[in-house]
Amino acid sequence: MKTKLTALDRAHPAASAVAEAAALLQEGELVAFPTETVYGLGADALDPLAAKKIYAAKGRPSDNPLIVHIANTDALAVLAREVPASAYALAKRFWPGPLTMILKKSAAVPLETTGGLDTVALRMPSDLIARALLETSGIYIAAPSANASGRPSPTRAEHVLEDLNGKIPLILDGGPVEIGLESTIVDLTGETPLILRPGFVTLAMLREVLPEAAYDPAVLAREQKQNLVAKAPGMKYRHYAPKGKLRIFEGNLEDVVQRVRQEAFAKQREGFCVAVLASEETKDRYSEFSVRSVGERSKEETIAANLFHTLREFDHLGADYIFGECFYQEGLGEAIMNRLLKAAGYQVEPAVPSERKS
Ligand code: AMP
Ligand code: MG
Repeated sequence: MKTKLTALDRAHPAASAVAEAAALLQEGELVAFPTETVYGLGADALDPLAAKKIYAAKGRPSDNPLIVHIANTDALAVLAREVPASAYALAKRFWPGPLTMILKKSAAVPLETTGGLDTVALRMPSDLIARALLETSGIYIAAPSANASGRPSPTRAEHVLEDLNGKIPLILDGGPVEIGLESTIVDLTGETPLILRPGFVTLAMLREVLPEAAYDPAVLAREQKQNLVAKAPGMKYRHYAPKGKLRIFEGNLEDVVQRVRQEAFAKQREGFCVAVLASEETKDRYSEFSVRSVGERSKEETIAANLFHTLREFDHLGADYIFGECFYQEGLGEAIMNRLLKAAGYQVEPAVPSERKS
């Protein structure tokens, strides 16, 4: 299959290009499109065969459910069989935007879309191309991130092409996305609203609407414990990983720089291709290596927007080993570190080994 790439103006998407994409969705085909978080790989959420095509194109395990994108809050009552008041309260505050809610699914939603679960993930995106596609097609669009399973999520159309060229008919190219990390997922099916995946909407923001909201314990775990298997099934898989081995170090920034340099020199001496994941403040300290900065340490929105692109760049460099710094873990930093830890296979180490806890 030949993959067509159509460039669109994000602020004023051309109606003809949107109509072509909408027609493909109506025929049960796949279309990749930008959202404000990352690029999504869309299909008709109510068509089991179309949903199956998503899993096939991504190489995604079939128990990893899809997020269903909707154009308005009326869809809640169609796709969920119980809609708690908390869902409407969150929708009022955060939709359209980067928040996904887990609700009990209605009979309309096939199990192929929910990975066999009795619950469904719903989100109303704010990106104008995504909204135009939802409105023109009149379809509820199931769309996980448009990357090959395990790879960093795509924040540009080129990333989608890199992973899915020849596997899908159309990519709508709206340029780099705004946020760059996937949506916050909050589970509203239990007694307490639980964050299953941190994102741009932080716990503090959620608590302004639902003061009892909390993190699911699996989100905060520094390692993948079997007894803490994440409730968002996607969180249990190896994810976001560059092809090289990524190790990240935490502690006092000067200690981190010294340790990264030491480890990078050691691998370079062994003849490996070595790269460093740095910040604006530190990038000049690693001039002996291939270095990529994700932004200023205090500008978390910039770091979020750059992270996945940077992880992909390490592959283009052919890096065998990547050594990196940790970032602040508060607010949006929680989501940044969540993705970075997964990319590193939870390989986070204290910069000064003697600080290591037993
Ligand atoms: P992606 O959009 O590629 O990040 O994938 C969707 C994410 O939403 C995955 O991490 C899924 O595990 C999660 N998800 C989707 N539906 C559900 C659900 N019903 N319950 C829990 N997590 C879900
Ligand atoms: Mg994904």
